[in-house]
Amino acid sequence: MPDRLPPALAAALEKLYAAMDADYAAAAAAAGFVCRGCDDTCCRSRFEHRTWIEFLYLRQAFEKLPAERTAALRRRARSVLDDRRGAPDPAPACPLLEEDRCLLYAARPMLCRLHGVPHRFRLPDGTWREGPGCAVFDRRHPAPGGAPLDRTPHYARLARLEEACRRALGLRGGLRRTIAAMLVAGPEEGT
Ligand code: SF4
Ligand code: SF4
Repeated sequence: MPDRLPPALAAALEKLYAAMDADYAAAAAAAGFVCRGCDDTCCRSRFEHRTWIEFLYLRQAFEKLPAERTAALRRRARSVLDDRRGAPDPAPACPLLEEDRCLLYAARPMLCRLHGVPHRFRLPDGTWREGPGCAVFDRRHPAPGGAPLDRTPHYARLARLEEACRRALGLRGGLRRTIAAMLVAGPEEGT
């Protein structure tokens, strides 16, 4: 498993993340939604992330933490993986969630960034799919204002970056991994 993302790809991903954050902020503002004071955090969801580029980017940010911190977080991630086996969703929380804050907020993957507001995206055949807001959004905004967040350009840009990443690093096959599985050392640990 490669452990280094080419700097140009990391920079391109950062630009894409900034675009996602800007679109998310605009959609949330249009709906009057504030992701705060939530007792139902989506960081307890078992999101599975699908791109090597995001995995490697997050791992690089993780490896910059002090060694004793990464060791403790790996232990926590292993315990999360053990506890999740056979446990109903949602439980337990992402190992990077500490005191209601994400320890690697700037490097969090797309699914963490875009979750919360209603969205839509266009499939290659031209049809549209729609997705709801988070449970908190739906409770607070039974009739939201503003258009749903269009994820299409972000999905397309991420797909292009993922392709470039796989080509540059000789990676074959897809990825399907939770944050807990990303943090532990073995590439084939569970979810
Ligand atoms: S990476 Fe951060 S934002 Fe994503 S689930 Fe974990 S704690 Fe939450
Ligand atoms: S996006 Fe929704 S579920 Fe997630 S932390 Fe914000 S309010 Fe809570």
